[in-house]
Amino acid sequence: MHRLRRSAKGGLQSVADLIWPPRSLISGERQGLGGGLSADELAQLTFLEAGCRRCARPFEFDMGADVTCPACIAKAPNWDEARAAVIYDQGSRPLILNLKHGGHRDGLPLLSSWMARAGADLLARTDWLVPVPLHYTRLVRRGFNQAAWLAQSIGRQAGRPVSVDGLIRRRRTPPQGGKSVRQRRRNVAGAFVVRPDRCRQIEGHTITLVDDVMTTGATARACTRALKAAGAEKVNLLVLARVVRSEDMTI
Ligand SMILES: [Zn+2]
Repeated sequence: MHRLRRSAKGGLQSVADLIWPPRSLISGERQGLGGGLSADELAQLTFLEAGCRRCARPFEFDMGADVTCPACIAKAPNWDEARAAVIYDQGSRPLILNLKHGGHRDGLPLLSSWMARAGADLLARTDWLVPVPLHYTRLVRRGFNQAAWLAQSIGRQAGRPVSVDGLIRRRRTPPQGGKSVRQRRRNVAGAFVVRPDRCRQIEGHTITLVDDVMTTGATARACTRALKAAGAEKVNLLVLARVVRSEDMTI
């Protein structure tokens, strides 16, 4: 009985550790504060509280909900709405790199909870979550797609279905890092397509496209084009981090 109680307690502790990792997601140091980040690391993050409803660009002042920025009024993106949890900067970069290149899953429940909160209104209107895909050769080499991990974790938290392979990347594209806006667009143009046997999940439905980082929006634009060509009624975008300064475009 004693052992049973102890193992049950151990199980609870490991679940708690998954939700609130005892080690920092950035430094790997053990820390007393729950949440996988120290107080200092948390203070370095910029949560996106108020931004353009179309592109998630932050406003300097809180303009209220449902406001569109001048750039989107001048030339609207092809997706319908966008939300981002944090700004991509020195504070959030290690979290993104640990997930994207390190393949560390410890932070997923926390990072996806930020996304679920930032995109709560979109998720309430979502029929299917669809992650931005990797080309299969890159998927095989890396062994995971961080956007799919995020989509699955958000789907679990928000109770929305996930079409993990609804979109496929039909050709390998060189990394977007270091390219101009125009080069990025050309690089991914026509790279994505809806899997023919997933068209029923897309056609006539509201899709939330999930990615880790939005830089210029070139990838989201190419994915949206493919989803709308397959009959998606609306395509909204939910990302963990949004690049705001052009000098942060190296991701
Ligand atoms: Zn905008």
